[in-house]
Amino acid sequence: MRDQILVLDTLQRIDMELSQLEKNLREYPEKISDYESEIEVSRNKLENSKNIKQEILVNKSGIELDILQNEDLIKKADQKLFEIKTHKEYEALQKQIADTKRKNSALEDNLLEQMVKLEGIESRISKEEEELANRVNEYTDKIAGFKEKIEELKIIYPPKKEEKVKIASGLTPDILSIYERVKKRNGFVLAIVRNEVCTGCNMNIPPQLFNEVLTLSRLIQCPNCQKFLYCEEELKSEAKTG
Ligand SMILES: [Zn+2]
Repeated sequence: MRDQILVLDTLQRIDMELSQLEKNLREYPEKISDYESEIEVSRNKLENSKNIKQEILVNKSGIELDILQNEDLIKKADQKLFEIKTHKEYEALQKQIADTKRKNSALEDNLLEQMVKLEGIESRISKEEEELANRVNEYTDKIAGFKEKIEELKIIYPPKKEEKVKIASGLTPDILSIYERVKKRNGFVLAIVRNEVCTGCNMNIPPQLFNEVLTLSRLIQCPNCQKFLYCEEELKSEAKTG
């Protein structure tokens, strides 16, 4: 039975390695896509700011054009003032000039606002460009590193899996199915017995069972946690002599 315990021990070791490899194979692509989406977030933020800047520029040139047109109107009206004969017409035209000047003054306030906004968005854009460049720089290396690791894992994993199958073939189907069941429930499949106590769950082992563990007459499972029990010293001394 000592051989069986050794097989179980080896199998457990390989299973742990396999599950670590599987975990990495699962997590590394997630890390890559996390990095990629963070870069994407930065890129979208910058894109959004550039769109806002574009809107401000369109708005600004619209206002500038309106101001120019109004100035032109004022100039023409000013000239027309000299040609007018009646007082009524003169007053009407003067009112029109004053109105246009008021409109232009409001437009100039608005223009100033747009220029302040433009300054703000330009400084935001340069910050965001820097942030994007830093992220791309930092994450590109990380992504490449994880891609390399994934390729390595893809090479390491299949032979390890084959090794497991080979080792598992050293166990009877009964024991193998118990092994898989206990592994699923507890993670660990083997437990050392010390002073008649299962170290897997800290429960006392009945003396009769403990004797059987000592003599290695058959595979014994802990009545409580179901792990296969073995006695550390016994296994070592057997291993030395046998
Ligand atoms: Zn136990």
